[in-house]
Amino acid sequence: MQSGGDHADDEPREKCGVVGVSLAERPAARPLYYALYALQHRGQESAGIVTHDGFQQHSHVARGLVGDAFEAGDLESLAGSTGIGHVRYPTAGSLDKSCAQPFSVSFKSGSLGLSHNGNLVNADEVRAELAAAGHAFTSDGDTEVIAHDLARNLLEEDLVRAVKHTMQRIHGSYSLTITHDDTVLGLRDPMGNRPLCLGELEDGYVIASESAAIDTLDGDLIRDVRPGELVVLEPDGSGYDSYQLVENDATAHCFFEHVYFARPDSVIDDSLVYEVRRELGRQLWAESGVETDVVMPVPDSGRAFASGYADAAAETDADGAPRPDDEAGIEFAEGLMKNRYVGRTFIMPTQDERERAVRLKLNPIRSTVEGKTVTIIDDSIVRGTTSTQLVELVREAGAEEVHLRIGAPPIVAPCYFGIDMATREELIAADASTAEIRDTVGADSLSYLSIDAVAAALESSRADLCLGCVTGEYPFDVEGEETDRSIDAPSPDAPTAADD
Ligand code: AMP
Repeated sequence: MQSGGDHADDEPREKCGVVGVSLAERPAARPLYYALYALQHRGQESAGIVTHDGFQQHSHVARGLVGDAFEAGDLESLAGSTGIGHVRYPTAGSLDKSCAQPFSVSFKSGSLGLSHNGNLVNADEVRAELAAAGHAFTSDGDTEVIAHDLARNLLEEDLVRAVKHTMQRIHGSYSLTITHDDTVLGLRDPMGNRPLCLGELEDGYVIASESAAIDTLDGDLIRDVRPGELVVLEPDGSGYDSYQLVENDATAHCFFEHVYFARPDSVIDDSLVYEVRRELGRQLWAESGVETDVVMPVPDSGRAFASGYADAAAETDADGAPRPDDEAGIEFAEGLMKNRYVGRTFIMPTQDERERAVRLKLNPIRSTVEGKTVTIIDDSIVRGTTSTQLVELVREAGAEEVHLRIGAPPIVAPCYFGIDMATREELIAADASTAEIRDTVGADSLSYLSIDAVAAALESSRADLCLGCVTGEYPFDVEGEETDRSIDAPSPDAPTAADD
C-alpha cells in the first residue's frame, strides 16, 4: 500500500489496526466498531468494517476517525454476525479509496475481505505474476495482492491449504484478519512481526491487533496468535481451530510496538506493554541515570518510562550504589501539561507545522521546573522536533539544567514493516552522534537506552526482535538494505499443493 504525505521516498508505510469477530447470533458490526475505537491509536486516516450475513458481504469504509467514519445507519446496514474491521494510518494527501481497508472483493471462489497490518516486501513480484495470469488489480496495495493470490488458491483447494500456499508466496510483515464468506480468519506472518491476539467473548471469539480491543468488548485474552499460525473462527461463534502453517525457529517481533506504538494496557507477546515500559525506564536509570531535582515524563508516551526510572532512582544512586534510607531519590512530577485535543504532531505535513504543534500540544507546569535541575523522559526521538521544543520550553519556564533520557536506542533507519518512522534524511540520529544530537536539541546531557537493555526488558534475545530502525539491518529482504539474518524468501518456485 502506498501512503502519501511528506514521505520523499514514497515507500509503503502502513501503521494499522485490525480486528475480526465471529458471534453466535448478535450482529458483528457494533462490537467491531467498539474494537476499532480501542485500536484508534493505530491509525486515524480511515476506518472500515466488512461483515457477512451468510448470504452476502457488506462493507463500509470511510475517511477519518472511527467516530466520524460511521453513522448509526451504517452500522445497521452491516448485517451479519461475522466480520472484520480496520483502522488505517493518516497521510496528508487525499484518501485513496482503493487503499482504504478492509479490502473486499467477490471472486468465483466466494467473497473475501482483508484487513492488513504490516507490509509485504515482495508484493510487486507477486502482483506481476498474478497480472500475467490475468488478474486485474484496482489498487497498487499489497493487501489486494494477498486477496488475489488467496482467491486463486481457493479455486483449487480448501481454505487452510489455500492460506498456506499464499503464505509460501508472500514475504514480509503481516498480521491479517480475513473473511472468506462468513468464516473469519486470523493470520500472523512466520516472524510474528506485528502483534495479533485471540480472545473469547461471551457469545463468540475475537482476533485483534491488541488485547485492549478484547478488553473493550468485555472479553478475555486467550493468547497471542503464534508466528506462522492461522486461526479459523467457527462462523457460529462456537469455537476456533488453529493451524501452525509455517514453523520458524526465530521471530522478529517489533520492539517499537512496546516502546511507543501499542497501548500500555495491551498485552503483546505475553508482556503487558506498561510493565515493559516501566522496566525500560528502570534500565535507563541503571545505564545512564543522572541526579536531578526532578524527573518528568513527556506525556503521554514517556509516562511509564519515567515512573520506572524514578522507582529505580529511589533504590540506587546514579552510580548504582544502594541509597541510604534517609535519601529519597528523585522527585517524580508532571512538568508538562498536554492538550489532549491536539492530534499527534507527526501527522502535521510540514516541519513548520510540526514545530508549532509541539507548542500547541505541551505547556510546562512552572512550579515543577522553576529553579530546578530537570530530567525529561521520552520514549524516542525521531526527527528531534519534540525534544528541541521541549528543552527550550522547560528552560524558558526556569529550569536550571535540562537533561534528556530516551527509553529506546537512537532511531537511525526507516521502518518498512508498518510503523511510520519518517525517511532516513529526516531521522536526526541517521547521521549524527548522540553528542551532536544533544547539542542540536540544546540539552545539558542526552542518553539513549542500549539495544541490549531493550532485549533484556522484553525478556528476549536480539535475534528474536526486529531492530531494523535502530540497527539499519532488517529481518526481511528489503531492496537496497542490509539484513540481520539469513532469509529464506519465497520465490515463484515455492512448493505447491503437492508438497504438503
Ligand atoms: P520527533 O519530534 O520527530 O523527534 O518525534 C518524537 C516524538 O514522537 C516522541 O515524543 C515519540 O513519542 C513520538 N513518536 C515516536 N515514533 C512515532 C511514530 N512512529 N509516529 C508518531 N509519533 C511518534
